[in-house]
Amino acid sequence: MPEGHTLFALARDLDTAFAGTSPTVTSPQGKFAHGASLISGTEVEGATSWGKHLFVDFVGDRVLWVHLGLIGTFTIDTSSYAGELPVVGQVRCRFATEDHVADLRGPMVCDVVTPEKVDEVLGRLGPDPLRLTDVRSDPDLAWTRIHRSRKPIAELLMDQAVLAGVGNVYRSEVLFRLRVNPFRPGTAIKRSTWQAIWDDLVALLPLGVATSKIVTIHDQVDEVARALEEGGDVRLDSRDSYVYKRAGEPCLVCGSRIRTEVVAGRNLFWCGNCQRRS
Ligand SMILES: [Zn+2]
Repeated sequence: MPEGHTLFALARDLDTAFAGTSPTVTSPQGKFAHGASLISGTEVEGATSWGKHLFVDFVGDRVLWVHLGLIGTFTIDTSSYAGELPVVGQVRCRFATEDHVADLRGPMVCDVVTPEKVDEVLGRLGPDPLRLTDVRSDPDLAWTRIHRSRKPIAELLMDQAVLAGVGNVYRSEVLFRLRVNPFRPGTAIKRSTWQAIWDDLVALLPLGVATSKIVTIHDQVDEVARALEEGGDVRLDSRDSYVYKRAGEPCLVCGSRIRTEVVAGRNLFWCGNCQRRS
């Protein structure tokens, strides 16, 4: 499932491609025909994300609300012939202008809603480490839920009501980076540990936005952060991980075998030797 950095980059790209334009919106697949008719030909004000949710604002208080779910994709074609692109596969929603075509396939949510509905959706979501300038992105809001819960921290980090945007890769990797035992209940997590988790996500997610990869290995984090600071090209050919999808392989730090177990419906990966912190 795409994590928050993917949605943030997607919102940015949709904003760049369509803000200020009035795209033709259609539903080649037919399932979104009514919704598309409500916004087609209307000016796009902008696009934003919150966690894994995407919102495209149209003039006239109409908002396209999208959640990609497990298999959804939203691709933007910027080639000059874009306006004539043939429809490939099951396209739920297509935005088309003379310069750009964007195709949404397989989303979990694709709906035209009111700004009030957007507020309701945001009210159910925890803070987003990529939206620091928004007052709703206060790490204390997550902390109040974490320290009252007996659920394991690895499960709480995946709960979008606690924290918005973090998925399976970031939770496994950040808990390893900070040596936190993923099975510690929220009630046993120290406040300073939560602050360290939040700070790490705040540092890592923008690198994910910039590279379209989840960068967590310290050397690579430093390399990408430096390139971003210098304003140069950020290129990363491979993405490595400390624990994610490395079950049975030796821990890069201590050599113990990386373990895996299903937590909150997804395979958690961790090093039982390194991760003892509460
Ligand atoms: Zn280890």
